[in-house]
Amino acid sequence: MDIKTKLINGNKEFVSSLSKDKKEYYSSLSKGQSPYALIICCSDSRVVPEEIFHVHAGELFIIRTAGNVINEGELASIEYGIEHLNIKYVLVLGHTHCGAIHASIHNEKGKYLDPILNRIKLNIVNEVDEKTASEINAKKTAEYLKSKFPHYDGVVESAIYDIETCLVTYIE
Ligand SMILES: [Zn+2]
Repeated sequence: MDIKTKLINGNKEFVSSLSKDKKEYYSSLSKGQSPYALIICCSDSRVVPEEIFHVHAGELFIIRTAGNVINEGELASIEYGIEHLNIKYVLVLGHTHCGAIHASIHNEKGKYLDPILNRIKLNIVNEVDEKTASEINAKKTAEYLKSKFPHYDGVVESAIYDIETCLVTYIE
C-alpha cells in the first residue's frame, strides 16, 4: 500500500470508528476551541502529546519543532495561544533520545538547521550527556518563553518524556 492510500484509509477507518457521542463531540468543536494547556514539544514522531496525556482533540494547543525550541514563528503561535485563546498553562516537553539534541551536541550541519541547533547550543552550552542536555534545553526554553511574555500570568513549566517508559517527569 502506498503512503497516500494508507493515510486516506486510516482517515476513513477513524471516521467510521467514531461513536455517536464522539461524532457529536467533534462536530461541537466547529464552534471554536478552548484548549486548557499549551504544549511545546519536539516534532519527533514518538512524542505524541494527545497520547501521552490521554486526551482528545480540542484539549491541547501544540507547537512542535525539532528540539522543542522557540524561534520567531513559534513565538507567534505561543502569543496566539496565551493571549487570544487565553491558555493559562504552558508546558515545554523535551524527551529522551532527541535527534535534535544529539545533532546540536555533535555540531551537525544542514542547509536550514542552524536556527534550531544554535538555539539548543545556547541552552545546553557544553553539556554532552544527551538526557541532561534535554532537561536543560526544556528548562531553558521555558525560561526563554517567560522572558518573551513577561506579563503572562499563567504557569510555565518544563518536563521530560521518557520514550521507553512513556513517563513524563517534571523538571524543578
Ligand atoms: Zn526530539
